[in-house]
Amino acid sequence: PMGLEGEIAELLKWADEIRRLGVRANADIPRDADVARRFGAEGIGLCRTEHMFFEKDRIPKMRKMIVAKTKEEREKALNELLPLQKEDFKGLFRIMAGYPVTIRLIDPPLHEFLPQDDEQIEATARELGMSAKELKDIVESLKELNPMLGHRGCRLTITYPEIAIMQTKAIIGAAIELKKEENIDVIPEIMIPLVGHVNELVYMKKIIKEVADQMIKEAGVQIEYKIGTMIEVPRACVTADEIAKEAEFFSFGTNDLTQMTFAFSRDDIGKFLPEYLQKGILEHDPFKTLDYEGVGKLVEMATQKGKQARSNLKVGVCGEHGGDPRSIRFFHKAGLDYVSCSPYRVPIARLAAAQAALEGKKYEENG
Ligand code: PEP
Ligand code: MG
Repeated sequence: PMGLEGEIAELLKWADEIRRLGVRANADIPRDADVARRFGAEGIGLCRTEHMFFEKDRIPKMRKMIVAKTKEEREKALNELLPLQKEDFKGLFRIMAGYPVTIRLIDPPLHEFLPQDDEQIEATARELGMSAKELKDIVESLKELNPMLGHRGCRLTITYPEIAIMQTKAIIGAAIELKKEENIDVIPEIMIPLVGHVNELVYMKKIIKEVADQMIKEAGVQIEYKIGTMIEVPRACVTADEIAKEAEFFSFGTNDLTQMTFAFSRDDIGKFLPEYLQKGILEHDPFKTLDYEGVGKLVEMATQKGKQARSNLKVGVCGEHGGDPRSIRFFHKAGLDYVSCSPYRVPIARLAAAQAALEGKKYEENG
């Protein structure tokens, strides 16, 4: 992909001088990270690691891991994934050298990793040395009626800490190797998804820190990593002061926060949204442009509470709204530090952030 040239590049350079909000990109693969850099992203604000496990050679290992009966079997499957996961992160870290890269620990709805049909059940059962019947029962016991409110996000790594340990080893291992072998500075930010209670964060943080600090000590290199949290559950907004005492950064997941604040399924809103818009019940799709009065209030509240509890708390947003100009204006006013959006929206976000800053100035000048 080409970078930006000529007058557009010049315009965006002006925008960068004016804006206060940082602009990062959501990227899980080096190609997207590369586009993001060319478009001026100042780091990765969200790497969704669950995407990395859907690749053909990995999903069978993931399936095996999820249905395994013992921790040892799970660890064996995870050990096969570790070198692949480490290479994933090295690819992103190289492109983003010197910039922060926020890596979110796995957040899939669990059902996506369960064996789906008889063929997959038989293959997985064979590898685990159990009968298809036995595995079918395990799969049934793991199924949920409401996976998006279920065993996902930090809930999954609290029940299976081995996954978080593997991912931490991959993140910190990649950073150490790049520093030692290629003298590349990596700024990893490890992010916990779907936190609603501070104790979830406390539990995960302890596990991550133990692994990371030990590795860094043994390697004898300096790696400045951070641990922070998604803020995407209404309860996390209401208790943001408690959570900020344990988190070095917040990133608003406005997709889930919108879903859970409205109690609208993000996957099915099309069923009634057209009628809502036509009948004037809603002015716009709240999954595209932030709902200021509801979801926005929670964002403001959490930002204030968080920054009061920890003055150097970094606050960003990585939901779809991070690339929407009207929402960006709101995030600027709410005092966020950065937005993170799809790589192709980075130029628009840079402009929108500058526009928001200019509006703020005009307002101050005119009183
Ligand atoms: C969000 O919920 O806004 C978010 C960024 O996470 P995901 O879309 O992966 O749930
Ligand atoms: Mg989310």
